Amino acid sequence: MVNNFNPSLNLRLIRRCPICNIEYKQSMIQVLDENEFGLLTYATCNSCGSNLLTKFSSLPQGVVGNAILTDLKSEEVLEFAAGDDISDDDVLYIQQAISKKDLINKFKDIQ
Ligand SMILES: [Zn+2]
Repeated sequence: MVNNFNPSLNLRLIRRCPICNIEYKQSMIQVLDENEFGLLTYATCNSCGSNLLTKFSSLPQGVVGNAILTDLKSEEVLEFAAGDDISDDDVLYIQQAISKKDLINKFKDIQ
């Protein structure tokens, strides 16, 4: 695969806060993880305080970006990123809990 991933170019794609439309300054954007295939960034808006998590991935068809608003702190994002991957059994467990309308109780058991 030809890797044409350019982190600095992709950072410039993060331009405005999706909540208040204020233009981000580069100092508001942290790079949490970076490798040859992608970039994970976290931006906190100085104006409204919202946090935007963005991931760019280099795929054969080009660079793909996803962004979500989050109430996680950047340290918490990294804690989740370091956790185990979701297994097939985890998906089946959740699907069964949903079909039994028991998902909320399962979450209560975790605490
Ligand atoms: Zn904002």
